[in-house]
Amino acid sequence: MQILDDIYLVGSGRTGIGLSNEYDCHIYLIDGGDEAALIDAGSGVNVEPLLCNIAVHGIAASKVRTLILTHAHADHSGGAAALRVRLGCRVLVGEAEAKIVETADVEASGLNVALPFGIYPPGYVMIPCPVDRRLGDGDTVTVGRYTLQVIATPGHSPGSLCYLVKVAGQRVLFSGDTIQFCPVAGQTGWISLLNAPGTDLNAYRASVRRLANLNVDVLLSGHRLFTLCNGQRVVDAVVKGFETLAIPRSVI
Ligand SMILES: [Zn+2]
Repeated sequence: MQILDDIYLVGSGRTGIGLSNEYDCHIYLIDGGDEAALIDAGSGVNVEPLLCNIAVHGIAASKVRTLILTHAHADHSGGAAALRVRLGCRVLVGEAEAKIVETADVEASGLNVALPFGIYPPGYVMIPCPVDRRLGDGDTVTVGRYTLQVIATPGHSPGSLCYLVKVAGQRVLFSGDTIQFCPVAGQTGWISLLNAPGTDLNAYRASVRRLANLNVDVLLSGHRLFTLCNGQRVVDAVVKGFETLAIPRSVI
């Protein structure tokens, strides 16, 4: 599904619109001209539908040279090992979670907490994946004619990253699980606070403040809906949510 001139949704599971394996997060592709990159890998339960969706848009697998992860939870990073082999792409992830991707540690990734709740299929395992570059706040990632700015947003997980890029004059934020667009119950922006190791409400609060005033047009989150206009209103709803004594609404 084409979202903007050079941005496609090529994977999405049951918390989205069912484009690929049901356990996948949203997987976006940015086409920078002479090369392309995926934002997140999905669960890796079955990468064939994802690869098919890339081909359907006329994008050669060999053009996808980079896989950029928003964080190491298995629904986002579980497919990294398979995609690194199938596409020959390099894998980029936040410094704080690189070791989880490299070791597929079930405790550090939170997989041991998620498995009993049916978030992944029975017997699901993450495959360890080499990390080619560790990212930190303020880094940039070049994908052909586009440059993505890395914004560290720990909270949902210790190494969660958001990526800001300007495409066709629009400011696009890939927000991973840090900000979710879910326009129900009078609220647009939601957080994803987990009752699991790694989630940190204080870090979340500080991270969300860093996303204020970014003038985001297009907000592309890791699950559920995304929005193509005034994405900043979704971010700001979460910023405002942290200005009270109550914990902001969480999609979990
Ligand atoms: Zn997550």
